[in-house]
Amino acid sequence: MKISEIINGEKPSLSFEVFPPKTDAAYRDVAAAAHAIAALSPSYISVTYGAGGGTSRYTFDIAKSLLDGGTTPLVHLSCIHASKETIREQLTALKEMGIENILALRGDLPAGMSAENLSYRYASDLTREIRDFGGFCIGGACYPEGHPESANGIADIESLKVKVESGCEFLTTQMFFDNNILYNFIYRMYKAGVDVPVVAGIMPVTNPAQVKRICSISGNTLPQRFIRIVDRYGDDPAAMKQAGIAYATEQIIDLYANGINAVHVYSMNKPDVAEAIRRNLSEILK
Ligand code: FAD
Repeated sequence: MKISEIINGEKPSLSFEVFPPKTDAAYRDVAAAAHAIAALSPSYISVTYGAGGGTSRYTFDIAKSLLDGGTTPLVHLSCIHASKETIREQLTALKEMGIENILALRGDLPAGMSAENLSYRYASDLTREIRDFGGFCIGGACYPEGHPESANGIADIESLKVKVESGCEFLTTQMFFDNNILYNFIYRMYKAGVDVPVVAGIMPVTNPAQVKRICSISGNTLPQRFIRIVDRYGDDPAAMKQAGIAYATEQIIDLYANGINAVHVYSMNKPDVAEAIRRNLSEILK
């Protein structure tokens, strides 16, 4: 099923994310986690793409096994390291597997690597390639607090406009911890004429090491209310996990209540976290 059909439906959608293993040895555990998450009947499951593309086979294999088990997969695909030939081969392989949904990403440029002479400079270049190939529902990434490389919020949204004009049918957000940041972003996006559905990305923070990593990667603003939780429970893993799940659940309920019908949980290969969130929303998702 196409993601555009799922998220444009009446019913609120709840999806989860898994990331591929880095080695053959870890494949079995990650596949088991993906299937345990699939058993929660999410609207779909996204499978991320390893930076540099070296683990693309695992991404595709996990997505295919989810599909075979009856769950709609969304395959992430990044282009910064890829040649046109590689991307076309990958699109052919995905189509043969019956995969219908791709999240088209640029990926991060490794430090010191030049952006000149790339086959694909921006995610919109990949989006256009996939659209011209045909047959896929294409999504893209967006950043409620702005992408770190964008000069300002206006430039950031202008580049989303190009992405959508290139064939992107929905946008999944980077994680955020204050829903008002998302509401403000969507207002500015729609005002600029970027009117595709937005899937809100929510990260249940279940240990304090995650917080440090998140902030160093994405430059997220952390609300005082959230910082107090980490200060108070950060040294108690079980309490931090419970508080992180509760915080994410509250964010999700507020999003649904305010008309954001599609929520994506960065479940990080943790079926127990996905299950707890799903359980907290059991009546809401009926
Ligand atoms: P782009 O949309 O190309 O944007 C990158 C920068 O270029 C932005 O500053 C943008 O404003 C600017 N820009 C874009 N188009 C133009 C243009 N036409 N002219 C001028 N400027 C432009 N990374 C992975 O390696 N694997 C994953 O699986 C993965 N999944 C992700 C999922 C989500 C939901 C998100 C939010 C991010 C994910 N990432 C992943 C990280 C992503 O690859 C990085 O954030 C990367 O730096 C940017 O990717 P992008 O697709 O947003 O790039």
